[in-house]
Amino acid sequence: MDQRSKNKLKRKMRKIKKINFIRRIVQLVCFFLLPGLFIQIYTSTKALVMALVNSSFSLQANLLDLAVVLSVYPLTLLLGRFFCGWVCAMGSIGDLLTAIRNGLKIKELKMEGSAGQKLKAVKYILLLFAIIFIWVLQIIAIPQGINPLDAFGVLVSLNNWDLLLSTFLVATILLAAILVLSFFVPRFFCRYLCPTGAILSLLSLPRMLTIKKPRENCRNCTLCTQNCPMAIPLYKTDKSRSGECIECGQCVIGCPMDNCHMQLAGKDLNTKTIGTIAATTIVGLNYIGTISANAVAFESTQTLTMDASQSATASSTKYQDGSYPGTAPGFQGQITVDVTVANGLITAIDEVSNEDTPEFFNRCWNTVTGEIIQSQTTDVDAVSGATYSSQGIMDAVAAALYGQTGTTAAIGESADSILAESKTIDSSSTASSQKSSMSSDAAALFTDGTYEGSGSGLRGETLVEVTVQAGKITAISEISKQDDDQFFYRAWDTVTEEIIAAQSIEVDAVSGATYSSNSIMEAVAAALDLTFENPNSSLQGGHGRP
Ligand code: SF4
Ligand code: SF4
Ligand code: SF4
Repeated sequence: MDQRSKNKLKRKMRKIKKINFIRRIVQLVCFFLLPGLFIQIYTSTKALVMALVNSSFSLQANLLDLAVVLSVYPLTLLLGRFFCGWVCAMGSIGDLLTAIRNGLKIKELKMEGSAGQKLKAVKYILLLFAIIFIWVLQIIAIPQGINPLDAFGVLVSLNNWDLLLSTFLVATILLAAILVLSFFVPRFFCRYLCPTGAILSLLSLPRMLTIKKPRENCRNCTLCTQNCPMAIPLYKTDKSRSGECIECGQCVIGCPMDNCHMQLAGKDLNTKTIGTIAATTIVGLNYIGTISANAVAFESTQTLTMDASQSATASSTKYQDGSYPGTAPGFQGQITVDVTVANGLITAIDEVSNEDTPEFFNRCWNTVTGEIIQSQTTDVDAVSGATYSSQGIMDAVAAALYGQTGTTAAIGESADSILAESKTIDSSSTASSQKSSMSSDAAALFTDGTYEGSGSGLRGETLVEVTVQAGKITAISEISKQDDDQFFYRAWDTVTEEIIAAQSIEVDAVSGATYSSNSIMEAVAAALDLTFENPNSSLQGGHGRP
């Protein structure tokens, strides 16, 4: 190599280092600002689709989900996956592992050829599976503790890592396997598994930005292909707009002929400038969106509080007036709240302390507390993407109201009569079981006897026998069913116990076993001659009652 070529190569290496340095800094900042955003994009998309499918979409309830997806999707649609190349924490960890492997001079595990390209389809298949069976049909739910992304959430929170070896042990093992593979294969998770990446890949297809490498000046050295962390076969083409491209710019800065360019409307773009602007836009939009959504939710909480106070005189007393602390575990640690009861109603819930990841806790605080105040019950929906924190808040409020901590007893009229009998609060009883006790003290509702009824499940008829004694439902037994065991028995105990506890068929379906849940409720309703509109009936054209 002559001196001129050596100097050119040195200049090139300096340029590569400078651009890579800037991208690494942007990735590092984004890692600390929004470590869980790639999970939120998935959960928010899922929440929005499910809300539309279930006809439960509301601007107020889904505002945070909209804020999350709007911070990333429009930019991806216009310019491509800058989120993946510059912002995503999981992608950054993949890049870090590749850098460590390169530093150790360990060879990359090449996934070349058509087999490697075909493997990329796995993430689209996973996404399709999730859309059909989890989002739309809602007949499968991922069991808690096995999702590697939950383990990732604990890992990047830099807190309570002991959970990784207990609650999330299986998830941790899966995450470890992904990280080991990511060490040997650049961006392994992004290339082959990430459902968020699959969504962004499809969204980025119509973008205006392209990678160009005209043949005239190309030496066919294939360095651009070798440098591509997503293994896009750039050598085959002189222009690429692949959905797999994460706009990292490695092909551009690695070309020895300066022949590879990122272009928008025929104009060359400076990779580090466009990348930094795109990342800043995503982070900015996300912060503005989530802060605004939380502010709107807070406003509505205030309105609900006022409504609750104003309607107090018209409602029967449910709780004793006072201010009560309650504590319960969230995702990362304890959540402590202070619940104010005025005129027999919950009028305010204040946060005393919480050890949860702020990103997840803040995501659900206003919504969950607002719904508790509105419905005057702790049995409200968890916020998608912040399930553990949501449940922690509900449990903490329940602990305050029902005295699970043993420090309070904010229970009103009907519960007081139960307390008078037992003289004590059973510290192991849950809020829901106390509600059940209250319901079962109701006057006789049904005529004594044994009745049969049928309902429509996913695969056919569910037949049950309902026993009524002293005017109350005392037993529900299965006569026959055609739904799969896996789903039917997932729903059976919960649904029948809740029906008996509430003395009502208006109970919640079990997530992941909705059709079987509905069939059980309909069968009990049919046995008791009650009206129940089963959404499953449309599946099979309904059925006649006995
Ligand atoms: S593909 Fe998934 S994990 Fe990879 S960078 Fe994109 S969102 Fe993040
Ligand atoms: S084509 Fe270029 S910009 Fe796109 S992922 Fe590959 S190296 Fe990065
Ligand atoms: S790195 Fe540059 S010269 Fe080499 S194949 Fe790619 S575009 Fe051509």
